[in-house]
Amino acid sequence: MRNLRKFQILGQPVHLSPDYLQWTIDRLERGIGTRVVTMNAEIVMEANRQPQLAEILEGADLVTPDGAGLVLALKLHGIEQTRCAGIELGEALLEIAATANYPVFFYGGKPAIVTKAAEKMQARLPNLDIVGIFNGYIDSEEQMVLKLQLSIAKPKIILVALGVPRQEIWIQENFHLCPEAIWVGVGGSFDVWSGVKQRAPKLFRKLNLEWLYRFGQEPSRWRRMLALPQFAFLALGERIRQGKLTAHQTNVS
Ligand code: UDP
Repeated sequence: MRNLRKFQILGQPVHLSPDYLQWTIDRLERGIGTRVVTMNAEIVMEANRQPQLAEILEGADLVTPDGAGLVLALKLHGIEQTRCAGIELGEALLEIAATANYPVFFYGGKPAIVTKAAEKMQARLPNLDIVGIFNGYIDSEEQMVLKLQLSIAKPKIILVALGVPRQEIWIQENFHLCPEAIWVGVGGSFDVWSGVKQRAPKLFRKLNLEWLYRFGQEPSRWRRMLALPQFAFLALGERIRQGKLTAHQTNVS
């Protein structure tokens, strides 16, 4: 199994690949356990404050650039890398699971949301074998039930929607329960699949403005979103410090 090239942006890793989905499917078919982090500017900034998260990112099997900031930062280094969002990777894996009969597990989100998301996915992919659904607000007793169910059902795809960094930490702590599965932190994907929230329209995504649409839907995220300009500033600074940016690229006359 080929290893992916790893690149560092502001001290945090991101893997490079022409096809993240195919790489993940290869591992799924071979039963190679895989922890996937879909990285954005917020996570980079958070990891620079939280050593535990930085360690998890370093140990993750796949870190994809999920977010315009990461893609643009890579571009500054001359790397053209297409974005790989958790929601799209999650959906694509569920489609594979439905055709190849891989059991899947949903964990996270509010109780009604995760149930609705699973129902909608089941309606869209009738052959999907969902072997467990747990909401993300369970107590320690229910956590034990969840872990027991994971150990018994041995799903092959485990989607965890607890938000960052909660989902990454949880995956790290529980990976041993299903060491042959693909574990993906999918953030707010269940909110979108349930129909409660909308994904940014294609035009916003194309213009790298998904963050703006999200802010419009959830203005309470403003504090978290301050990470974006900070990230852009630091990423540009990092590139300039490395001394390889030409005057033309920076628009410095
Ligand atoms: N969530 C959860 N348990 C918690 C906190 C959050 O299940 O204790 C869920 C929340 O309901 C939402 C998701 O985690 O569905 C976080 O979504 P967000 O859009 O914040 O994801 P992020 O941007 O952090 O990836």
